[in-house]
Amino acid sequence: MKDMFGLKGHVAIVTGSSTGLGQGICKAYVEAGAKVVGVDYVESTATKEMLGDNFHGIVANLMTVDPINDIVNKTVEIFGQIDILVNNAGIIRREDSINFSEKDWDDVISLNAKTVFFFSQAVARRFLEQKSGGKIINIASMLSYQGGIRCPSYTASKSAVKGITMTMANEWAKHNINVNAIAPGYMATNNTALLRADKTRSEEILDRIPAGRWGTPDDLMGTAIFLASNASDYIHGFTIAVDGGWLAR
Ligand code: NAD
Repeated sequence: MKDMFGLKGHVAIVTGSSTGLGQGICKAYVEAGAKVVGVDYVESTATKEMLGDNFHGIVANLMTVDPINDIVNKTVEIFGQIDILVNNAGIIRREDSINFSEKDWDDVISLNAKTVFFFSQAVARRFLEQKSGGKIINIASMLSYQGGIRCPSYTASKSAVKGITMTMANEWAKHNINVNAIAPGYMATNNTALLRADKTRSEEILDRIPAGRWGTPDDLMGTAIFLASNASDYIHGFTIAVDGGWLAR
């Protein structure tokens, strides 16, 4: 059983590795035996301190697709191969839809949807070259299922993530490439700092979570390992909610 979930000898790329859920996933993978390249537009200093030689940080702004090929090449140069990609880096902009700007639309769609697709494409090409298969895990959201309030570009981007996860799975499953997604519920990270600071919204949200608490990066670790391991070899195109029961309400 142990080997089924183990990642010994595997190499992962995790985007958005300096903090929050991405940092938690880097930690989970190293604890499961993998080497990890973390990508972020700021230094992943705390993650590096936590994980040492099993982690290599790359600073790159994923708001455009330009850095992707270099990151793929650098990962192969450092750790020899790629087995896992986690598209985790993401942003949210909050404003009434009536006032929402084109910039807040374009920025969020670029990072949360366009980069997710083209990073997956670059890594899938590498999997084909390696003749190895591999695992791609996209970070979706409750707003892959629901409309949300005051975050139209985020909802559009996360609905896109759920959709393209299925498209890519349909095309690449035959190459032993598993493309799946994790939809976190309401997690206590920088992403939700403004929401948690809004007393009314924060109470409304907490009231609706059956588990009775906000999630933490540790809550994602098991599912992130599962989808990266051999235990999920026949799972393709699915988005798994890790949400304290939010969607069940
Ligand atoms: P976070 O803001 O703590 O982390 C986001 C990470 O992405 C940070 O490390 C940040 O530096 C990095 N990043 C931002 N812009 C970047 C860029 N242009 N290039 C490279 N890296 C960049 O938020 P989080 O909650 O850890 O979010 C991680 C993912 O989980 C996101 O995709 C988010 O949408 C998703 N998510 C979060 C929640 C939640 O409740 N926190 C819920 C559902 C989905």
